[in-house]
Amino acid sequence: MKRFFSIALLLTALVSCSAPAEREAVSVIPQPEHFQLGDGAFRITSDVPVYLDEMTPEFERIAEFLNERLSAAAGFTLKTAEADLRNTNVRGIWFLNAGLPTERYELQVTPEKIVIEYGDGAGAFYGLQTLLQLLPTEIFADHRVHGVRWEVPCCDIEDAPRFAYRGMHLDCCLHFFEMDFLKRYIDLMALHKVNRFHWHLTEDQGWRLEIKKYPLLTEKGQWRKETVIGSLKSGVYDGIPHGGYYSQEEVRELVQYAAERYVTIIPEIEMPGHALAAISCYPELSCGLEDHYETATKWGVFKQVFCTKDETFKFLEDVMDEVFELFPSTLVHIGGDECPKASWKQCPHCQAMIRKLGLKDEFELQSWFITRMEKYINSKGHEIIGWDEILQGGLAPNAKVMSWLGEEGGIKAAQQHHEVVMAPYPKYYLDYWQADPDSEPLAMDGPTLLRTMYEYNPVPEILKPEERRYIIGVEGCVWTEYMPTPARVEYMAWPRMCAIAESGWSNVAKDWEGFTRRLEHHLKRLDGLHVGYCKAFFNPFIEFHDDTKYDKVVTMSIDAPDAEIRYTLDGSEPTMASPRYELPFVINRQQTVTARAFRDGRPIGEPRYKSF
Ligand SMILES: [Zn+2]
Repeated sequence: MKRFFSIALLLTALVSCSAPAEREAVSVIPQPEHFQLGDGAFRITSDVPVYLDEMTPEFERIAEFLNERLSAAAGFTLKTAEADLRNTNVRGIWFLNAGLPTERYELQVTPEKIVIEYGDGAGAFYGLQTLLQLLPTEIFADHRVHGVRWEVPCCDIEDAPRFAYRGMHLDCCLHFFEMDFLKRYIDLMALHKVNRFHWHLTEDQGWRLEIKKYPLLTEKGQWRKETVIGSLKSGVYDGIPHGGYYSQEEVRELVQYAAERYVTIIPEIEMPGHALAAISCYPELSCGLEDHYETATKWGVFKQVFCTKDETFKFLEDVMDEVFELFPSTLVHIGGDECPKASWKQCPHCQAMIRKLGLKDEFELQSWFITRMEKYINSKGHEIIGWDEILQGGLAPNAKVMSWLGEEGGIKAAQQHHEVVMAPYPKYYLDYWQADPDSEPLAMDGPTLLRTMYEYNPVPEILKPEERRYIIGVEGCVWTEYMPTPARVEYMAWPRMCAIAESGWSNVAKDWEGFTRRLEHHLKRLDGLHVGYCKAFFNPFIEFHDDTKYDKVVTMSIDAPDAEIRYTLDGSEPTMASPRYELPFVINRQQTVTARAFRDGRPIGEPRYKSF
């Protein structure tokens, strides 16, 4: 008989164990639902076959994902063959269709074989992602690693997602990102079982999607003549034109690339606000109150929005027709956020519409706008999702809500029995600082620490049990005002996105301590993939709280497990001989706190400083 014991017991044992190798025994992110660890391991060598229940291009591709990793890191690949179901007691890696619900998988590892059971390609793919995370982290290296035994610990896993919608957003308008980076972004999502890529494609600062019927949108609308430097109120501009767009051919390529990784791309076409780039190309879509419209060169909210006239709807319907051709997703994001009403208040046409339709005000006009677009989109077999503000003046009948203004909109929508994706700021906003702003490059606001993201519960307690099922998922938002490069995006998104991915997938009760242990191990995988994530995890986070006019109370915390913080107050670098932080203490105006984390007597991370 094989002796199994629970992962909880194992982790308890590991807490008291300081040897790093054992501390890292198992660390899958997101945490699987049921996980039992057994004795022994299955060793993957070049003669291990992969048996496929279905020899189709889809499943051969899934096997190929395993081979891609093995080829790079281990220097060999595995042969695939059709599974002979009369004889499954053969050494190998078995992919078997067991008729499980979508995305669900079961993974059994014994010294003799590995069996991944699934009901569809997504389930098989997620089983593979978990298998890769059970292998030594070197499997994620991009070069041959010698001296590693490619062993998978014996275990028994049953796993299924908590939410159907597990999203990650990327704003490609405030800054444009090349296709190669988007593919990498999707790869990282898939590694974390994130299955919705919310692609923000239109904005005041640039239109990024080729629309054949309206060529000016990309010929002209992709460009802004320059970009504000620093914060949006700096008044200083770089004088450098910024542009970029995705051709329809590229979009099709990315949609396919994502689909092969079980990621659905949800395009966002903003309306009625955040429309300045479109209006600058086709001023007839505006309320016509200005002589000249130009793509925005700084961040924020602009009063130049789509007018509520027929030309606008014709334009948006034409755009949507091309969007439907490009994106198989049923769900389409129509924005709906931050639409100032100033233009509509002054516009004779919009005012006449309010009177004609018997509406109370401009908020109801916005609701009418969204509902009219929803009717069109529904008639084409698609559904809409929009930011909270689509609740203003009444929610369109079939709309889903992406709740970003805290939780309130999401709660309201769920109470009205509309489906909701929780993407609240600041909890799920990856453009907020993740460490002390004093030691970080410019970001939107914050900080929103890793722990805050991890511990956020996306199903608000205030909802009644029958309302909770309307929360269909979570999403991490990446607005790129202060992320002009791929490196900045990765730095801001990771590792915090690991926490959101776990909230989206995992059905297991939250355990911060356990998460940090798994994450530290997981970071080595991100290292292998050269993800330039933020390393605040290894650094003390110092906070000052007001005491009196002359003093501040200092608190410190550290995410990395089994670490202690040592500090000085004279500006010198802390050593193991420096005082250890135990409890909050008071400092005065002359003192600077310098803190560093240590583990097993050795420093980890970087020193952190904070003065008055
Ligand atoms: Zn108007």
